[in-house]
Amino acid sequence: MEPETLFPVPPDPRIIEIDRRLLAHYGQPPPRDVWNPLDQFIYSLLSSRTKTEQSHQVMRDLRARFGTWENLRDAAVAEIEQTLQIITFPEVKALWLKKDLMEITARCGELSLEFLAKYRTNKIRSWLEQFEGVGAKTSAAVVNFSTLRRRALCVDSHHLRVTQRLGLTPRADAAITEERLMRKIPADWDAIKLDDHHSLIKKHGQELCTFAEPHCRRCPLLDMCPEGQKQTKANPSDIAS
Ligand code: SF4
Repeated sequence: MEPETLFPVPPDPRIIEIDRRLLAHYGQPPPRDVWNPLDQFIYSLLSSRTKTEQSHQVMRDLRARFGTWENLRDAAVAEIEQTLQIITFPEVKALWLKKDLMEITARCGELSLEFLAKYRTNKIRSWLEQFEGVGAKTSAAVVNFSTLRRRALCVDSHHLRVTQRLGLTPRADAAITEERLMRKIPADWDAIKLDDHHSLIKKHGQELCTFAEPHCRRCPLLDMCPEGQKQTKANPSDIAS
């Protein structure tokens, strides 16, 4: 049984309204270039705390330097680390990447995650989360964004911050926040709708509800946001416009 259906409750109308307003404000997110699960695994492992453009660039750099993921797996950690210099924590991510690719090969007999398609979503995510550097955010990205296209919500740092400020979920880690949000999300939102919703929340976190300086006065969600109301009342002239 999927976690979001353990205790079914009616969807939270605030989430539907937030999605509607963000869609009106930012427009329909562009269709995702859907990758195979292994490509998505590598991308998501490397992309934490890194800008999207740099994450895509490092994927291009890895392909250009190593040609195949098998060559990447077999390369020296120092050479991998050198190729990851444009992203955050290259020394840690190089170790994770090599170790995980070796472990996938050892467990599966080949460097591929295509076999995951025959398993239930919860089982896939538990399996993925055994690997170094893989938590709920990465496992959600692999099952939701890749050709697996399962129902999951990728709760990255933007998603955490925006939903906490909106009062949708109390402060918690990505796994707990995802579980709480999935119980509030309409059951008929399929994998692509969940991906689009994530993209809208992320864009809002990048453009208006930023970490250092939320632009509450320009936010289409201000009237339904406890943090925005608090900020604009407490700092009528200071809060970013
Ligand atoms: S009102 Fe401010 S804190 Fe609330 S979602 Fe908008 S930008 Fe973020």
